[in-house]
Amino acid sequence: MQADVVVIGAGVQGSAVALRLAQAGRSVLVLERSVPGAEASSAAGGILSPGVEALEPGPFYQLCAASLERYPAFAAEVERLSGLWVGYRGGGTLEVALDDEVARVLAGRAEKLEQGGIAAQVLDGEAARRLEPGLSERTRGALYFPEEASLDPKLLGRALAIAAQRAGARFLTGQVKRIALEGGRASGVDHEAGHIAAGAVVLAAGSWSLQVEGHGLPPGAVRPVRGQMGVLDTRPPLLSRVVFSEKGYLVPRADGRLLCGSTMEEVGFEKAVTAGGLLHVLGLAVEIAPRLAQAPFVECWSNFRPATPDGNPILGPGAVPGLFYATGHYRNGILLTPITADAVSAAVLGRPPPVDLAPFSPARLGAGRPGA
Ligand SMILES: Cc1cc2nc3c(=O)[nH]c(=O)nc-3n(C[C@H](O)[C@H](O)[C@H](O)COP(=O)(O)OP(=O)(O)OC[C@H]3O[C@@H](n4cnc5c(N)ncnc54)[C@H](O)[C@@H]3O)c2cc1C
Repeated sequence: MQADVVVIGAGVQGSAVALRLAQAGRSVLVLERSVPGAEASSAAGGILSPGVEALEPGPFYQLCAASLERYPAFAAEVERLSGLWVGYRGGGTLEVALDDEVARVLAGRAEKLEQGGIAAQVLDGEAARRLEPGLSERTRGALYFPEEASLDPKLLGRALAIAAQRAGARFLTGQVKRIALEGGRASGVDHEAGHIAAGAVVLAAGSWSLQVEGHGLPPGAVRPVRGQMGVLDTRPPLLSRVVFSEKGYLVPRADGRLLCGSTMEEVGFEKAVTAGGLLHVLGLAVEIAPRLAQAPFVECWSNFRPATPDGNPILGPGAVPGLFYATGHYRNGILLTPITADAVSAAVLGRPPPVDLAPFSPARLGAGRPGA
């Protein structure tokens, strides 16, 4: 078996990079050990918020902003190719303060963002509650990012895999054991179905990236950070936009489901929803919007954010010729999917990437060691 490019992992990153490479006419084989989109990509809230996530201006903010800008066209393209809706919704993001001290911190952040040319509206408690009447009467203030959005990552993961297949990418189920090297260059992978030769390899295995032998990354470059999520039912919907507080967030879906997230836990690969985790996410939900205490509980889950030491993703080429990275997206992999697809596919195709990838190169994390 062979392909121009082999992509390891079919989360949103792997499927989106495969889509762009297939559209460029390359033969692409995506290797997924389970179901495309079934891991972190379907566990996410789907918040698309550079304003809340990238705390200050800089390359990471620029990357997030470039991705958000691409989203309306990207979502429409994936919907057209797949025939599936991905739940993209505007409405902005509201980061609320439930006491005066946090309100002051938010106002300070707005000032810093504005100095970097990033607009953030500072609202008092009353103005925030006019936007979202379901918020607690204790709301003292908020930051509002009106251009931000959200979508349903479970739908996006499915739609992207279908879109990539329709564009010509092939998907094969099974585990990749190692990246094969020939003359110091990535020459394919050893898969449970046998050796697969390829001109280029893209590592998009999320939290499991360091478990693929020959990954070429320094130790600790990617680690799992568990997040738990609880879902409530609100009909009619109690909130119409994403609401953050300092402890977590609420993400409303159009059908009245409300995602309450999330925990940040360093517990390795222990996939579990715990009593303490649920208490945390549901407690903060009721604190932000007290009427949620009456909302029926629907379901819960947990999964792993692929975290890097500095919180930024690992994108593009590294020390091993022919090996490219689309991993380490941590808390923002859904937001960063469109720019990852464009930037990593450009790197594989030998074209100039749409953003400077130097700040996201694996080299920043220490020297890569082929075969590590
Ligand atoms: C609770 C939670 C909430 C989140 N909320 C948001 C949010 O609101 N907004 C946002 O932007 N981001 C959010 N994220 C982050 C986002 O989900 C991730 O950054 C993103 O999904 C990473 O995508 P991925 O494709 O790299 O990883 P994954 O979706 O984990 O995909 C990796 C794939 O690789 C496969 N794989 C691994 N090893 C191998 C192997 N050896 N062989 C074959 N296949 C392999 C796995 O089976 C998996 O399908 C959240 C994450 C969590 C856990």
